[in-house]
Amino acid sequence: MRYLSTRGGMPAAGFAEILLGGLAPDGGLVVPEHYPRIDTATLSGWRGLDYPALAFEILSRYVGDIEPVVLRDVVSRTYTPEVFGTPDITPVERLEPGLFLLRLSNGPTLAFKDLAMQLLGNLFEYQLGREGRQLNILGATSGDTGSAAEYAMRGKRGVRVFMLSPDGRMSAFQRAQMFSLHDENIFNIAIDGVFDDCQDLVKAVSSDLAFKRRHAIGTVNSINWARVVAQVVYYFKAWLAIAEDGQPVSFCVPSGNFGNVLAGHIARMMGLPIAKLVVATNENDVLDEFFRTGRYRVRGAAETYSTSSPSMDISKASNFERFVFDLLGRDPGRLAPLWERLALEGGFDIGGTDAFAAIAGFGFASGRSTHADRMRTIRDLRERCGMLVDTHTADGLFVAQGYREEGVPMICLETALPAKFADAIREATGVDPEPPAGFAGLEQRVQRYVRMPADVAMLKNYIAAHC
Ligand SMILES: *Cc1c(COP(=O)(O)O)cnc(C)c1O
Repeated sequence: MRYLSTRGGMPAAGFAEILLGGLAPDGGLVVPEHYPRIDTATLSGWRGLDYPALAFEILSRYVGDIEPVVLRDVVSRTYTPEVFGTPDITPVERLEPGLFLLRLSNGPTLAFKDLAMQLLGNLFEYQLGREGRQLNILGATSGDTGSAAEYAMRGKRGVRVFMLSPDGRMSAFQRAQMFSLHDENIFNIAIDGVFDDCQDLVKAVSSDLAFKRRHAIGTVNSINWARVVAQVVYYFKAWLAIAEDGQPVSFCVPSGNFGNVLAGHIARMMGLPIAKLVVATNENDVLDEFFRTGRYRVRGAAETYSTSSPSMDISKASNFERFVFDLLGRDPGRLAPLWERLALEGGFDIGGTDAFAAIAGFGFASGRSTHADRMRTIRDLRERCGMLVDTHTADGLFVAQGYREEGVPMICLETALPAKFADAIREATGVDPEPPAGFAGLEQRVQRYVRMPADVAMLKNYIAAHC
């Protein structure tokens, strides 16, 4: 399998060559040159596979330049019951007839990002060792991504993580998760400022190309291709768990940067029988607006709201370009002008065009949820099923209700556990969510981090002194 850029300006490259990178050199996103088709017989033949074996079957079709024995070893070390809490790794739970929850949040940081990030940690360690290189990952987090990256990279050879977070602005649980890590290759830096200040610092350091090269600075953000493809596996796993041969199912996906639902789109392109892919947003509804109207309009800071499902508070969806590439017939000549317009005018509108009319053929639908909707959904589900879900998952469950069809199971993706967002759960239900086994007392552990003003020179000095 070879990889290309959505904008057409990158020579074809192998998986291992694009693994450690971010954007393609022409500013586009890296995509596989085609989607491998899984026929019905192959799909039924996968019914007996456990998670690592299934992951190997899917990933090996996208990875041509890592030895199969190595890849098999990497996936079996990644997807273990010790790391993910159950032998199923991503169990499916029935909530009521026709409605299911795909549980993706039993990894070390209690959010679905662990499923991709844990694989990335092992792939990075292997590839850096093979190239004899080091990588210093610099990131900014408001919670979930940073902790998933740290738990994936802790103790890995050749990798260090410098993670910036806004001092005093994460939930107590999220702080404790990150700051209680004492591994020598993990550096938590609490910035005196808000999340945007952290992100600006990362941008400032990364745009100093000489510094970036000298200190081997890299990232693990949501456009990383390996993260996307790792997520394809659980769509197949869920279908295999509940559907009969040939039976279509629908998925509803709480969405922000469009990474998770993009993986569902890829599974569908590979031949998995998926009826609908429902994109659920919160009040930050840039994606819902696009799927309803064809207008994609990036939001400014004043229009990006802080909500009670904070991991979906986005102003633009960084993986969206990969879907639009497919929508436009995988033609860089049609895609590039849209992204030029986006850069100049902050948006584009393909409403009323043939391209937009083609969306239905890709199975996409969308909806939006508000604070009141998610509070009510959390309360209702607790009363009906005795089950607590987190605010993001609740956005998905709420939006899914509008798209259920007779005879088509609806599978909602659980993206985090309620223990991570205790304040919102207390507001919805009046009770505190129980932390899962092993997490009791997390907030009392000794925390290790440095405080720093939002100062580029100071940050550079700190990185230089520690790598
Ligand atoms: C990251 C995240 C999302 C959004 O996922 P995308 O892949 O960015 O669309 C939703 N819910 C939770 C809990 C998350 O951490």
